[in-house]
Amino acid sequence: LVVMRRIHKAFGAHTVLDGVDLSVDTGEVVVLIGASGAGKSTLLRCVNGLERIDSGGIVIDGQELRYDEKSLNLMRRQVGMVFQHFNLWPHKSVLDNVATAPVRVAGRDRDEARETALGLLEQVGLRQFADRYPMSLSGGQQQRVAIARALAMRPKVMLFDEPTSALDPELVGEVLAVMRDLADSGMTMMVVTHEMRFARNVADRVVLMADGGIAEEGPPAEVLDNPRSERGRAFLRQVE
Ligand code: ATP
Ligand code: MG
Repeated sequence: LVVMRRIHKAFGAHTVLDGVDLSVDTGEVVVLIGASGAGKSTLLRCVNGLERIDSGGIVIDGQELRYDEKSLNLMRRQVGMVFQHFNLWPHKSVLDNVATAPVRVAGRDRDEARETALGLLEQVGLRQFADRYPMSLSGGQQQRVAIARALAMRPKVMLFDEPTSALDPELVGEVLAVMRDLADSGMTMMVVTHEMRFARNVADRVVLMADGGIAEEGPPAEVLDNPRSERGRAFLRQVE
């Protein structure tokens, strides 16, 4: 569903992605791990066009990623992204946070968008909070709203960049549970996380990034329990 070939990305003289090849199949859950600065966020941001690659190619659902406004808008509807900081609209209700973009950006019918939004809030366990405002919710609840908001665009793939890193520890589980349900429902997902238990239990494949590339990849048990590279071993000693 997502094919990256030989992608290069530098900021000035600093090469962050140095010829990365990575493909994600439909329904697959890929967890990206690696040290700070390894380029995990940059890779995700390249997939949804927030960063422009210097060379190589990205194909999403058969469409080559291009950077004119029209292509970017079309592509962003197919790719949902959830960040560490959820950035909900503070002056909109939970329901409107979820239902607004489908109407404004995708031109959906307003009533239908609200029905869909209520269904998605149900899915993330927050239907009863539809009329509340984000500030009155916990961080974990706000992040679940952010997930519902991304899903409202009916994306083909969901990108998560450390979605639980900003949360108090007791709120992490509820967000991971929603992500796990989403994975079980067949959503294609790319997830940057330090939650090794999630990686172990939910990922189809773990990708360890280092030195501008992929140091190691494979099933979680292989990469997390038997890393072949010295870099893999060093990283895992730190996190586990
Ligand atoms: P972390 O685990 O800390 O989130 P990461 O693997 O997500 O790290 P990136 O955020 O992708 O790493 O950053 C990779 C490198 O690119 C870092 O050295 C960072 O400083 C640099 N970088 C990222 N974005 C920019 C930018 N907009 N301008 C300049 N340098 C950047
Ligand atoms: Mg990052």
